[in-house]
Amino acid sequence: MSDDNKIDYVEAIFQLHEATNKLRKITGEEPKPFVKPKPPFCSFCGKCKNEVVALLSSPSPEILICNECIRKAQEIIDGMEPNES
Ligand SMILES: [Zn+2]
Repeated sequence: MSDDNKIDYVEAIFQLHEATNKLRKITGEEPKPFVKPKPPFCSFCGKCKNEVVALLSSPSPEILICNECIRKAQEIIDGMEPNES
């Protein structure tokens, strides 16, 4: 996939925020300031969403793990398992 196909995460959130503020004006609510969000990133290796194939979240939304770290974890677990046959 080329860089052209990647969605600009912050830009997308900003557009959504602007649209929500327009709705707030219509309904008479106070518009809220835009807070630049951090793109989601792996809690283990620090790679952001655009750098990995998949990013899985835990039940607690603050912790995320990417597909690469899952593979590394699986390799470690495989090495720990006893080789009895
Ligand atoms: Zn990772």
